[in-house]
Amino acid sequence: MLRLDSLSCGYGDMTAVQELTLDIPDGEITVMLGANGAGKSSTIMCIAGHVNIIGGRITYNEKEITHATPMARIKAGIAVVPEGRRLFPSLTVKENLIVGGYSQPNENSRDSIDRVLNLFPRLGDRLKQLAGSLSGGEQQMLSIGRALMSSPKLLLIDELSLGLMPKIIDLCYEAITELKKNGLTILIVEQSTQRALEVADRVCVLESGKEVWQDTAARARDNAALIDTLLGLN
Ligand code: ATP
Repeated sequence: MLRLDSLSCGYGDMTAVQELTLDIPDGEITVMLGANGAGKSSTIMCIAGHVNIIGGRITYNEKEITHATPMARIKAGIAVVPEGRRLFPSLTVKENLIVGGYSQPNENSRDSIDRVLNLFPRLGDRLKQLAGSLSGGEQQMLSIGRALMSSPKLLLIDELSLGLMPKIIDLCYEAITELKKNGLTILIVEQSTQRALEVADRVCVLESGKEVWQDTAARARDNAALIDTLLGLN
């Protein structure tokens, strides 16, 4: 569904990701791992159109989108759950969801909200609550829900489990599994490997902006010690 061909991107003179080649197959979950500063967020934000491309190309559903605007990418079906959630804290849960659906016709909004509430029922009891007053876990659910409001085909999630309690991490990963069953293609960026590897189909490890390992999740699970070494965990 998505192909990065020798993609390099960065900020001013600084190259954050160097010549990354990655295939994200339709209907699969790809997990990108890496230590702090490895270039994971830059990759996600580059796919979404928010980071300057230095070289290479991005192809989505066989169309080149390397220089497409962020809005064109949203309309084509690419949605992001950004690191730190970036909700609108002084808007209600419902208003945050409606903002997420701004690229869609109004009449689709009710259906999309219902789908989000099916996935995260606890948001249903909090529709009128300000997003800034939600717990961290609820904020992550809302951030995922807001991204789903644009009816994406490809969901990019930056740090799914960072700072969340184990019970909430389970809920988020259950939701991800459900979304995959419904046909969504998903790229998850994570620092913590174990939970991500349980749901992943493919795994890519970045180090200092470069890909250092890429294979099936089954092989990643078989090579857990090597992956930990690449991540600097042992
Ligand atoms: P983390 O897990 O800490 O978020 P990461 O793997 O997502 O790390 P990035 O955030 O992509 O890594 O950072 C890659 C490199 O790009 C780092 O050296 C970082 O300092 C740099 N960088 C990230 N954002 C910017 C920015 N807005 N301006 C300049 N440099 C940046």
